[in-house]
Amino acid sequence: MSPTIITPTLLRYLTTCERRVWLDAYGDAGEQLPTTPIGALYGNAHEAHIQKVATPQAETMPVQTWDEGVALTHDLMASGTSVIIGAYIEQRYTLENGAEVSLRGRVDRLTLNAETGYYEPVEIKQYIDLGKGDEIQLDFYLTILEHSQQAKLRGYFWLGDDAQGKPRYVLQQVLNPARLQLALRRAYIVLRQEDAPAVNLVTHCKECPWHTACTQVARANLDLSLLPRLTSQTRKQLQRGGINTLQELAALSVEELQRFKGIKKTAASHLANARAYVEDRPVWVSQMPDLLHGGGWMFDLETAALPGGDGMPWSLGWSDEQGTSQIAIVAPGQPHQRVHLPPIGELITVKDKDEAWEVFYESVGANDKPIYHWSGFDAGVMKATAPDFVKQALLWRMHDLHNTFVNTVRLPLRSYSIKKVAAYFGFHYSGYEEWWAAETDYRRWLVSGEVEHITRACGYQRDDVLALAIIWKWLIENHHLQANE
Ligand code: SF4
Repeated sequence: MSPTIITPTLLRYLTTCERRVWLDAYGDAGEQLPTTPIGALYGNAHEAHIQKVATPQAETMPVQTWDEGVALTHDLMASGTSVIIGAYIEQRYTLENGAEVSLRGRVDRLTLNAETGYYEPVEIKQYIDLGKGDEIQLDFYLTILEHSQQAKLRGYFWLGDDAQGKPRYVLQQVLNPARLQLALRRAYIVLRQEDAPAVNLVTHCKECPWHTACTQVARANLDLSLLPRLTSQTRKQLQRGGINTLQELAALSVEELQRFKGIKKTAASHLANARAYVEDRPVWVSQMPDLLHGGGWMFDLETAALPGGDGMPWSLGWSDEQGTSQIAIVAPGQPHQRVHLPPIGELITVKDKDEAWEVFYESVGANDKPIYHWSGFDAGVMKATAPDFVKQALLWRMHDLHNTFVNTVRLPLRSYSIKKVAAYFGFHYSGYEEWWAAETDYRRWLVSGEVEHITRACGYQRDDVLALAIIWKWLIENHHLQANE
């Protein structure tokens, strides 16, 4: 039987979720949904930049398989290559219990120390605050490299970057064998378990490919971790007090719930959320503001947030209550024009973000109805980037529909993102649901001019606006049910 393979990625996941480690090894791959952790996108772009500055002449050597990568790394080390980027290293390792595992990983950089003649590992991080997973990762590489070179080594973290694109800080690390052994033993125990460890939904779960599958398990069990904004500490307090499910929690009174440490003002809110899950229906918590009856504009924007972006808006989208949409797209160097883009609506190309705000101002200036948006983000971007006259004319009309929604009604949902709430009401996005995909299409359109790219990006923008209209309409049509609570 081939030994269990353990990678640094596996050990990193272990620091946050044992279930992830188990599911990655034995879960039904069909239940995984692809995700793009945005942090990883930034991390990869950062690493590529740092590598390029540090080693501008690096030669690319393609490999087809893991074994090929290991053999090539071995050859490059034997020939004294000064730097090996993305080196493949591995080692058979015997745990304290006698079990043999295979350690496998790819180091960001292996650098030849000219004084000692040994190769040392370098890990490149965009952030400067190291976590436990980072230290274990470097321990992992040090273990393999010390074993293969029969020498004591130092590893290095290159953290952040300076104006020249060089690492801002360089930190040394020596191997902590006990720390690594502990992590390896824990990984081995998790991988030997018959059943998956229990679900524990936390913030980072939304970047996990098992999120949907885990949420389904949690819903079937009415798991406490489904409650939005319930900290793990408070959850443990509840469990110590014998409250293990949402059903048990929903049966408590506000006063009984407030006896638990960490729950005071939030008791009524937790109860409403728990009831929404247990009864599988919207639970009304207060009166809908009358202002919503007057209708208004639905508004959403996108900013350049991918690596290399300047954080400024590149798209403003808005619609009336019927969903008739307009989208202003920043297209420097292109003529100002209005085109109809079926079935999305009117597309207006503008030269910069100021012109985008002006176009928006002219359109919604047709009346003084509220301008609905989801969360404080859009109003914050308006404050930070719109011309003064636009802010003076429109900021007072901005209405955070997300805030109103969660203060009015609770749904059996852990996240109240606009996508999740609109999906609860049966709204489906016509294409992708990821902002980074829209920004990627937008960037491609700027370069290529290919209309399918801007159509997809605008389709996403339009769907965000339509989602707002769906939610607003649902509130208007259903708020009378509040009387039944
Ligand atoms: S969704 Fe969360 S609980 Fe489930 S495997 Fe991923 S990180 Fe773990």
